[in-house]
Amino acid sequence: MTHHSPIQRETSIYSGGTWKAGRGTGRLAAVDPSTGRAFADLPAGNAEDVQEAAAHAAAAFPGWKAAGSARRAGFLRGFAEGLSRRRGVLVALQMRANGKPEAEAGIDLDDAVACFAYYADLAEGLDAAQDARVAHGGGAHFGLVRREPLGPAGLIVPWNFPLVTSAWKIAPALAAGCTAVLKTSEMTPLAELAYGDIAEEIGLPPGVLNIVTGGAEAGIAMTRAPDLRKISFTGSNMTGAAVMKAVAARCLPVSLELGGKSAIIVTADADIDQAVECIAGGIFFNAGQMCSATSRLIVDRAIEAPLLEALAEAARAIVTGNPFDGAEMGPITTRAQYLKVLDYLGAARAEGLDCIAGGTAPDMDGGNFIAPTIYRGVPRSSRIWTEEIFGPVLATTSVGSDAEALAVANASEFGLAGTVVSGDWERAKRLADGLEAGQVWINTPQAVYPDSAWGGFKQSGIGRELGPWGLSGYQGIKHILSPAIS
Ligand code: NAD
Repeated sequence: MTHHSPIQRETSIYSGGTWKAGRGTGRLAAVDPSTGRAFADLPAGNAEDVQEAAAHAAAAFPGWKAAGSARRAGFLRGFAEGLSRRRGVLVALQMRANGKPEAEAGIDLDDAVACFAYYADLAEGLDAAQDARVAHGGGAHFGLVRREPLGPAGLIVPWNFPLVTSAWKIAPALAAGCTAVLKTSEMTPLAELAYGDIAEEIGLPPGVLNIVTGGAEAGIAMTRAPDLRKISFTGSNMTGAAVMKAVAARCLPVSLELGGKSAIIVTADADIDQAVECIAGGIFFNAGQMCSATSRLIVDRAIEAPLLEALAEAARAIVTGNPFDGAEMGPITTRAQYLKVLDYLGAARAEGLDCIAGGTAPDMDGGNFIAPTIYRGVPRSSRIWTEEIFGPVLATTSVGSDAEALAVANASEFGLAGTVVSGDWERAKRLADGLEAGQVWINTPQAVYPDSAWGGFKQSGIGRELGPWGLSGYQGIKHILSPAIS
């Protein structure tokens, strides 16, 4: 068995059970966003690497499908254990490569472990649930319902939660009996290689999980690889549309987890401290680089002044900086995204928005730092109100009624998530019911459990991850019909 350092490695591709260097012309740098300095680089995979990985996934598919769900469950537990064993190394890597504060890097690790453990449990019972019997035609026929794996799946992920978004795809795909090719983000090329190391360590059959480290070229090749029979993508809307278009040429099933501009509604009877905790968590966790960020605050006019005062104070108190110095909020993970956020801060200034916290990019050690930022009373036509910023930037507005709050919240092309903070649970529930969003939190920061559903309405995507819904994204239904046997 080979042992790899998570950082110094020339092998960026795990394909058919072996490690190899990517054949791409360029190299991918792992950059510490707190300093702007590269700490590793590795060869990029190209289209040929994807084709080869997909061929391995296709060759391994019949055996993996036939392996039985209990055996697959055992391997998924192996992934959970392998991640736990690497906890220290992977937490440190995410602090360095993503700029995540230590506590948040730990939460990512725990979420990924919980996801593998959950799908291991779900896989355990799959075979026993096959051939569910249905009586047809008053007993003339009976049917047997089977859930079959779709086939080798192509999984494409972004950089903001590298270990987590990939766990949310690998675990249900493998549980269902699909084999997989994972294409990681060129911005964070190291974290998911741990999944290859674990696959090797636990003796996963070669070709069941393949990992290609590469950029857009490899991503495009995923959408074209003839061996892949399902594509699951998480990322931006622009790329999601390109993926859907490419996959449409072959009419393959596609799942998309895209962007958001989610609302947090605070009613007049809300507890201010609780509201501040939910608002700050919803926009400053992971420096706001969350598809589910509640980046639009809609507050009842009656408590706008005291809430915003407490919120601005909390935002100013957040220690922003290098996670290795104990910062509570880290930098923006990529330079390109940092420049995009700076552009929005410039647009806000040009629009003359009322900035009550942050609005600046602290110059510290060459890192991609943005101060926790809040704009008050943002016009609903402003780019700051309508566009996904993907940074620690909150836009606020005030309303006079719950009906107005809902109308404002739902006036968005996105529909991923939402939060309601209210002293009256029934009222909060009515608002939650009215929100056009796939996930709504009431009086809590954004907890995500592996047995809940994840995904959005409108332009936030197609399909759901996590829970049994995540599993069904990798399954097709087969209905076997037969005359009744007397
Ligand atoms: P991105 O769209 O730039 O990249 C995502 C992945 O697609 C990367 O691996 C990239 O290499 C690959 N890719 C690029 N071009 C491609 C192409 N033409 N064909 C196929 N693959 C291609 O996204 P990002 O900037 O890495 O991530 C940020 C975005 O992801 C945000 O918009 C955010 O809202 C979204 N996101 C959504 C969720 C969710 O669950 N809904 C979760 C995390 C992030």
